[in-house]
Amino acid sequence: MRYANVIVDISHEAVDRPFTYIVPDELADKCRPGSRVMIPFGRGNSEKAGYILELKDHSDIPLVRLKEISSIVLSQDATQSRLIELAYYIKEQYGSTMIDALKLVLPSKKAYRSKKTLTDTGDGTDTVTDGNVDTVTLNDDQEAVVSDFVTEYDKGVRNTYLLFGITGSGKTEVYIEIIRHVVDMGRQAIMLIPEIALTYQTVKRFRRYFGDRVAIMNSTLAAGERYMYCEKARNREIDVIIGPRSALFTPFPDVGIVIVDEEHEGAYKSENMPRYHAREVALKLADMHGASVMFGSATPSVESYYHALKGDYKLYRLDKRATGAVLPEVKIVDLRAELRAGNRTMFGYALQDQLRETVESGQQAMLFINRRGYAGFVSCRSCGEVIKCPHCDVSLSEHRNRGTLACHYCGYEVERPKVCPNCGSKYVMSFKAGTEQIEEGVKKLLPGVRTLRMDGDTTTRKDSREKILKAFAEHKADVLIGTQMIVKGHDFPGVTLVGVLAADISLGAGDYRAGERTFELLTQAAGRAGRGEVPGRVVIQTYQPDHYSIVHAAAQDYEGFYEEEIVYRDIAGYPPVKEIMAVVTSDKDENAAYLTAKYLAGLCRAKGEGIQVMGPGKAGIGKINDQHRYVFYLKSDARDSLTGLKDDMEEYLAKKAGTEITTARVVFDFGPMNPF
Ligand code: ADP
Ligand code: ZN
Ligand code: ZN
Repeated sequence: MRYANVIVDISHEAVDRPFTYIVPDELADKCRPGSRVMIPFGRGNSEKAGYILELKDHSDIPLVRLKEISSIVLSQDATQSRLIELAYYIKEQYGSTMIDALKLVLPSKKAYRSKKTLTDTGDGTDTVTDGNVDTVTLNDDQEAVVSDFVTEYDKGVRNTYLLFGITGSGKTEVYIEIIRHVVDMGRQAIMLIPEIALTYQTVKRFRRYFGDRVAIMNSTLAAGERYMYCEKARNREIDVIIGPRSALFTPFPDVGIVIVDEEHEGAYKSENMPRYHAREVALKLADMHGASVMFGSATPSVESYYHALKGDYKLYRLDKRATGAVLPEVKIVDLRAELRAGNRTMFGYALQDQLRETVESGQQAMLFINRRGYAGFVSCRSCGEVIKCPHCDVSLSEHRNRGTLACHYCGYEVERPKVCPNCGSKYVMSFKAGTEQIEEGVKKLLPGVRTLRMDGDTTTRKDSREKILKAFAEHKADVLIGTQMIVKGHDFPGVTLVGVLAADISLGAGDYRAGERTFELLTQAAGRAGRGEVPGRVVIQTYQPDHYSIVHAAAQDYEGFYEEEIVYRDIAGYPPVKEIMAVVTSDKDENAAYLTAKYLAGLCRAKGEGIQVMGPGKAGIGKINDQHRYVFYLKSDARDSLTGLKDDMEEYLAKKAGTEITTARVVFDFGPMNPF
């Protein structure tokens, strides 16, 4: 006998109240997740329409109390069914409950009711001076891409494309033309863009073409506003949505194209259950709608480029800057040599000279410190003690203006100790490489210089990031200092110098993507220089001047980087050559976390043929919020075998739930973005 969980009122708020029905034999092969069905409902058994969320082979409810599904409705409006089907795919692929997957795809109505104001577009386009948004004529390279796409599209070919275009090559104009074509055919477009890369210039360009038929979603958008956009999408009042990964779940009736800009960005991977990757879900969504997919980047992810070379994706290239600007000249500076020459400041001699020249000639500079995988920790120079959070097992970071040390995970904050808690020495110091220290250094070097600083501390307020960028665009400062936040997508024609202070900090991040991320950040950073008329210069300071990520980034040579990187991935057995999954257990009771991990790893060893199991071991961050964490990793040639093992583990956990054997909380993560 087959059973179905059916939901009557399908909304974000109501998904935890599905009802079980019997699937009659004659409907068995027609029913699937997402199917719209008629069911007898309530006391009077009146017929109601509902959606099947899930099918199952057994039910704990006594048979006499169950009713049968009456019929299947073949409705014209398949939008809701598709979203449920997508939620089911996400649940199956990544491991979560159906309820969590549904909450992900369905917008919340409740928030909409409680907060029903809204008058302007909310994207701030009206407050910004008109930048460089004149209607441009596509150049030959852009035209070639658009016309090839259009030819295929008109022939009914649905494909996955990788648009590999250097920074400033004009990818946005290509997207706009492609979207126009698809929208003209009466279909809709979803364009994902990492929030950090969504600039006013981009928004304005889209508004120029699509007016109020484009909606822009960002995280400052309240849940209620998201709901309103979803309603507009459902009713075909908008054709285009631009937003972060959740924009994938916009309920358009007929999606014709999904674009994922800056496809290499880590932000496309969800860090909450279900830990889905927007690139993968985009492919599934496109498949369901008969849409094409375009991934775009100046530094494609190793995964996507691998697929393009294998022929899974069609590769398009844009090799020239659209404005005709030349690529910047890049210089690598060896910090070890600087130290030997007696320079103890964080600015090498070359960077000092060029900064002075740039500012004196009225141009602008950006200074970038790559802090990924590094937090301004405090340690003792006498005994080596690092001061850590007692709850999370990570180093605390110094907040100089508050005179405190704080934890980035749980917010724990203490007064900065004057002496080492371990040996009593006075020499407790921070590794001086934060943006505040750089700002101080610049001011010392160039008295009177106007600086702006942008990092996690200065941008906690929603609008402060935009304010800083706007002030810099209006040349209210000579130097912008920041973390990786400043390197994404921004187009400042006045910037002629980009300095990277310690390029190799991110190489030590301790995961297999460290080389890729370093290459990507350096290339994107270099791409910020010389976007205007004056050619740009880039100075990369590093302790590892021979590392291939740094050498190829300096040469702006993606293929050179890729060739070395893929050899490493192949030899070490990492994605995209192999598939990898992390299984993380956590519990207040350390033993429970450990034993659950140990048991599950054992299960995988016994079941998984041709699968490599690593661990379990204590996670890199062994404790978060007093929850102990253990992790093990699985490697395989095929994704399917990992998904199969995930199913086995889920089944085991479901069986144990409710018995006296308690298991820890378990998280599955395919292709983890960061080490646990
Ligand atoms: P990318 O996204 O590839 O980094 P953009 O789409 O932001 O590049 O384009 C970079 C700059 O080039 C923008 O200022 C844009 O207006 C301009 N641009 C794009 N296409 C053309 C073109 N065909 N002719 C002139 N300028 C162009
Ligand atoms: Zn000490
Ligand atoms: Zn903490």
